[in-house]
Amino acid sequence: MKANNKIAEQIKSISDTLPCGVTLIAVSKYHPAEAIMQAYDAGQREFGESKAQDLVKKHECLPNDIKWHFIGHLQSNKIKYIAPFIHLIHSIDSYRLLQEVNRHGEKHGRKIGCLLQIHIAQEESKFGFTPEECLAMLAEGEWQALENIEIRGLMCMASNTDDEQQIGEEFATIQKLFNTIKTSYFPNNDRFNILSAGMSDDYPIAIKYGSTHIRVGSRIFNGE
Ligand SMILES: *Cc1c(COP(=O)(O)O)cnc(C)c1O
Repeated sequence: MKANNKIAEQIKSISDTLPCGVTLIAVSKYHPAEAIMQAYDAGQREFGESKAQDLVKKHECLPNDIKWHFIGHLQSNKIKYIAPFIHLIHSIDSYRLLQEVNRHGEKHGRKIGCLLQIHIAQEESKFGFTPEECLAMLAEGEWQALENIEIRGLMCMASNTDDEQQIGEEFATIQKLFNTIKTSYFPNNDRFNILSAGMSDDYPIAIKYGSTHIRVGSRIFNGE
């Protein structure tokens, strides 16, 4: 069972180097329940998936104390599958989606934790609000009336590049935006405290810029 030990080893080697206050989310998309159980047995409890149906299937067959994070692009018609149990949705990219999540939260008598996804990368294909769009949405203020969602912070993906300076600049941008939003809209709310930034290749840089939640997939499950 060499491959299995490898997953536990990777979890441990990453967890051991994380500063206090940084949470590791194991991104288990593409990987079967057995691989997730190997991580679970190594103590991992937070997992991220990017497809609603996969997430639901895994939720059904895996232990109840797993906290599931939705990190992919979320279509409105898929919210219903994850609304009953999802721990945190990282990928809110429009006010309309936030409203829809709120509607499903109401149906299930829950307040669903949400992050606003911010587009900071150079690639055009990545989803998210631009910083300006996000600030405009918050300034508009309608979101304050949504009682079944809770905005917990921001999420981003940096450009897919080897240029560490570029990546650092992008994470600096999100950190600054996070602080601006915190000060303007959540000054007395301790629960606006999540910055989800950093993946297998760039999480150490993200942590330097205040990331509280890193989303690591291939480095855990493919040993990369
Ligand atoms: C797949 C994915 C990750 C994990 O990426 P790795 O490079 O495998 O660590 C993190 N965040 C999001 C949004 C993803 O889709």
